[in-house]
Order: sequence, then structure tokens, then C-alpha cells
Amino acid sequence: MKQFQIQVAQAGGPEVLEYVEADIPTPGEGQVLVQVAAAGLNFIETYQRSGVYEVDYPFTPGTEFSGTVTELGPGVKHLKVGDRVATAEATRSYSQYAVVDAELLGKVPDSIDLRLAGALPLQGCTAHYLTHSSYMVRSKDVILTYAGAGGVGLLLTQMLKLMGATVITTASTQEKKDLAKAAGADYVVDYDQVPQTVKDVTGGAGVNAVYDGIGKDTFEMSLNALKRRGTLVLFGGASGQVPPFDLQRLNAGGSLTVTRPNLADFMTTPQERGWRLGDVFGWVAEGKIDVRIAAEYPLAEAGEAHRALEARETTGKVLLIP
Ligand code: NDP
Repeated sequence: MKQFQIQVAQAGGPEVLEYVEADIPTPGEGQVLVQVAAAGLNFIETYQRSGVYEVDYPFTPGTEFSGTVTELGPGVKHLKVGDRVATAEATRSYSQYAVVDAELLGKVPDSIDLRLAGALPLQGCTAHYLTHSSYMVRSKDVILTYAGAGGVGLLLTQMLKLMGATVITTASTQEKKDLAKAAGADYVVDYDQVPQTVKDVTGGAGVNAVYDGIGKDTFEMSLNALKRRGTLVLFGGASGQVPPFDLQRLNAGGSLTVTRPNLADFMTTPQERGWRLGDVFGWVAEGKIDVRIAAEYPLAEAGEAHRALEARETTGKVLLIP
């Protein structure tokens, strides 16, 4: 049986994402085959496509998706054909059909539309581990983050507000600023206004923590924004990777902490996965968190979706529909 999927023969720009015919894979022990309803677009796939992260070729990107189980491999007990599922931990989900370990899937609550479910697991669980585990946010913390209208940014701001923090964030256009504000951010400013805003909001003390997904362009500004013993959570490099730096900088800045976390290290057991997916889907089902799907591209146009994400043209979530 055949399907269509995206394949990359060698690292390069968005044009290397080719829409090709391929075999539908067979689920092995503990795996299921899922018909993909929506594959979420995430920055990691641009790093993999362009060669920043090493992958084996031919490579089919895709980490996050939602869909319907169509076949069970041997030994799968807790799922059945027809179940609606989603995950942040797949491989090769830029496909019409994907095989995935059953234990990596969460069931989608009946009240959540399957496409919406494809927009949530990766960025939702990322915002969850950043705020609940990487640096544990306390009520009354002042938090600086960037790209407040981005996929992670909109969810992160809403979670920070649920936890009682004051949120300072950035956005590069007025439309993006309006979205970040609507998500609950207290201060939404241009990138070059960050130092002054932090000074004004904290009376010169600095923020408790910075969540920085921009990387190269903002790293220094992030360190400078921290209060004594503050924490910088560097979780991405949308502007490029941060070069090596002198650890004495942390001493001089006031016993600062820097961490560079990765979602996979915060989804290590069924309990941890269930906690994060359960909270994220639960908050959406209860209306506590709003998910913005800003664009849906046919899977065949994955290259155009990558170009738009890297060109800062997107807001919220971008989905690829097979
Ligand atoms: P976004 O939707 O946030 O898109 C990136 C945004 O970054 C842009 O829209 C833009 O917003 C801002 N930006 C600032 N400078 C640049 C630049 N030079 N090039 C491109 N964008 C820039 O993406 P995601 O929500 O998918 O991801 C955000 C970050 O989170 C990424 O760095 C990603 O790698 C990281 N991430 C990390 C995870 C982890 O576990 N460590 C998991 C998931 C995501 P504006 O125009 O408003 O400045």
C-alpha cells in the first residue's frame, strides 16, 4: 500500500522538502499505524532540514501530529483501531500514515477537534515543562520571554498568567503585539526596549527568569535582564545558536543559572508524559488556554510553510494537512 510523504535527500533550504510516494509502514511490536489528521510544524524541523541538527538521509521530518489509529502492532493493549491520538514525540509525521510507539501517544479528549489536537502536544508540553520543571515559576515572579505571538510564545504566556506571574514579552510587528497582549502578556515591547522595560517593571532589580527561544541575538540581553540568582532558560535558537561563553559571566552577573533544556528530557516516563499532555489538553478543554491555528498548508506545500516560519511571517501554530 502506498502513501505520500515529505522526504529530504540532503540538507538545504525549504526547497529540499520533496513530496514523494512511499510505502505505508507496518507497525512492529508495541507500535501502531496512525492516519495523520494534522502534522504540527515546529522549529526543530527547520534545524533538521538545514543541517544544524544531524539526521540520516533520506529524511522524513515530523515530530508532532494527531490522527486516528488504523492498525495495531503485536502487544498493543491500551489502544484500539479508531482511537483519536496525538503525540509530541513521533518521527516521520510529515506523512499520510505514521508508525509510532503506542506508549508515546496520548488519547485526544472527545471535546477537542483532531486538527486542534495536532497543534498542541509539542508546543504545549514545551510551555508546560519550561514553566513547571525547567524553572519552576512562582506566583508574583516577573518573567521575560520573547516572540510572544509565536507558537510556544502564546501558550507560554497563558501558562505564566495562570501561575500568577507578570509577563514581559516582545514581538516584531503591531499585529503580533496585539496577539501577545490578548494572550495576557502584561508588557509587550520591541526587542530594543527590553532593557529599559525590565528596569522600569522591576525597579532595577531584574527578572526572576528569562525564557529565551531566540538564542544568538538575545542571549546577552537575557543574562543582563536577570536579578541576582536569576535563571536563564535557553530553549531554542530561532536567530541562530549561542556561541561558547565564559562561565565567569554567571559569577559577575550575580550567581546566575543557565540551563539549555530539551523536551525529550522532560517526557521520560508514562507518568510524566501523561501529566503534561493531561494538563495541556485539560486546560484547552476547560477554556483556560486558547490555541491559535494561524495557518494550515497542504502537506505538499511543507517547503512554503518552512519558509514562512523562518521568515518570521507566522503567528501561533502552523499545521500541515496530508
Ligand atoms: P515561533 O512561532 O516562536 O517562531 C519563531 C519566532 O521567533 C518568530 O516568529 C519571531 O517572532 C522570533 N524571531 C526573532 N528573531 C528571529 C530570527 N532571526 N529568525 C526567525 N525568528 C525570529 O516558533 P516556535 O514556537 O515553533 O519555536 C520557538 C522556539 O522554541 C524555537 O527556538 C524552537 O527551537 C524552540 N523550541 C524548543 C523546544 C525545546 O524543548 N527546547 C521545544 C519546542 C520549541 P517576532 O517576529 O515576533 O520576533
